[in-house]
Amino acid sequence: MPFDTQLTRKLGIRVPVIQGGMQWVGYVELASAVSNAGGLGILTSLTQPTPEDLRKEIRRCREMTKNPFGVNLTALPTINPPPYEEYAKVIIEEGVKIVETAGLVEPYVAMFKKAGCIVLHKCTSIRHALSAERRMGVDFLSIDGFECAGHVGETDIPNMVLLSRARQQLRTPFIGSGGFADGRGLLAALALGASGINMGTRFMCTQEAPVHMNIKQAIVNATENDTQLVLRRWKNTSRYFRNKVSEAAYEIEKTSPTGEFKEVQQYVSGQRGRQVFINGDPDHGVWTAGICIGMIQDVPTCEDLLRRIEAEAQGALSANVSQYKESAKM
Ligand code: NAD
Repeated sequence: MPFDTQLTRKLGIRVPVIQGGMQWVGYVELASAVSNAGGLGILTSLTQPTPEDLRKEIRRCREMTKNPFGVNLTALPTINPPPYEEYAKVIIEEGVKIVETAGLVEPYVAMFKKAGCIVLHKCTSIRHALSAERRMGVDFLSIDGFECAGHVGETDIPNMVLLSRARQQLRTPFIGSGGFADGRGLLAALALGASGINMGTRFMCTQEAPVHMNIKQAIVNATENDTQLVLRRWKNTSRYFRNKVSEAAYEIEKTSPTGEFKEVQQYVSGQRGRQVFINGDPDHGVWTAGICIGMIQDVPTCEDLLRRIEAEAQGALSANVSQYKESAKM
């Protein structure tokens, strides 16, 4: 195992790479493929219409992989609040051992910890990470830099600084999330003190991701300038793929005299965004993407992607070490 870290040892995985929760993407096809390839695949609870559907999805995942996998539970502002506690109960009843959480989840984390689950909690700031460490005693913090897709937080600190601050401040092991898409990124995160990385957008653009091919092609064609930040006015800043709908939502956000969320609701609706992945029209609704879209140039299988990431990280490590030795001789 080339990269043996606290993360790989604790989770029982080969490669220190996690496929983070993604609304309308984190289904069993993707999660099981990532786990079979040696990373940690994660099912996203709220993509399932009911807690009982999540139960079926977890059981299906067990049939599709013998390797460890996790389940994500995220509680952020939502148009129709789901029954979070019921989802949490199903996760526990089904004996899931690894849970990824984000948002206001303290009561559910307490349930998961009591049930003996390993909890990885996502934070976009050191202040929130310290509070999660103190109040919830999670096993890993997933440090979500400003580069990430979706909910970027309100402090706008990218991972070059955020991961270093995590290393300086946290006692809990952490992983880097946001902006990672290749082996050099993995190596950089390890060098900054992380035990591994979390990738979302990169896994969206794999053969197994249940996302229309047009959308994968839109990611391949995009540059790092093709995302847009919306919802800052409501302190729920979200990074979307820049399209006609994100532009329209942003225009209302900027100009609305009332500042009422309901004015943008029809544009940012997740149900509308979900259709994008099904019908393949990138302008049908908003959909989240990280700025690493600029680095993504193909649609590999999860197996090929993880093998490439391992090989690239190893190759870059050896090259850097020999370059360093050469320059030390001079
Ligand atoms: P949705 O249709 O309920 O809402 C669309 C967007 O508007 C979301 O970004 C939501 O956070 C935001 N929003 C809703 N009400 C708001 C309010 N009053 N003020 C400010 N912003 C508001 O969301 P969805 O796309 O169907 O997703 C359902 C839930 O899953 C949301 O809570 C979302 O945040 C969450 N989610 C989870 C993940 C994950 O990794 N598991 C990823 C993305 C979204």
